[in-house]
Amino acid sequence: MPSILCKCGKRISYGEIPCKDEWLLISDLDFDQQMGLIESEKLYSRFDHMLKCPTCGSLWVFWDGFNEPPTYYLWLEPDLTP
Ligand SMILES: [Zn+2]
Repeated sequence: MPSILCKCGKRISYGEIPCKDEWLLISDLDFDQQMGLIESEKLYSRFDHMLKCPTCGSLWVFWDGFNEPPTYYLWLEPDLTP
């Protein structure tokens, strides 16, 4: 089963269908071009795939498909001090 090792040490598996740690992303522009009734398979092919680490909340986005390395986005506690 495919997986990645998050920088926090948690191994995130993404072979399950559906995957509890995977999110599907589409740009607003790309979605807008899918006019009318949408075939789910066609729409699915337009999505980028994102994994959210269930331990630390960081994001891993496969912008160029699962055959290319994902981009890592570190989750940081926001500083809400005025
Ligand atoms: Zn993590």
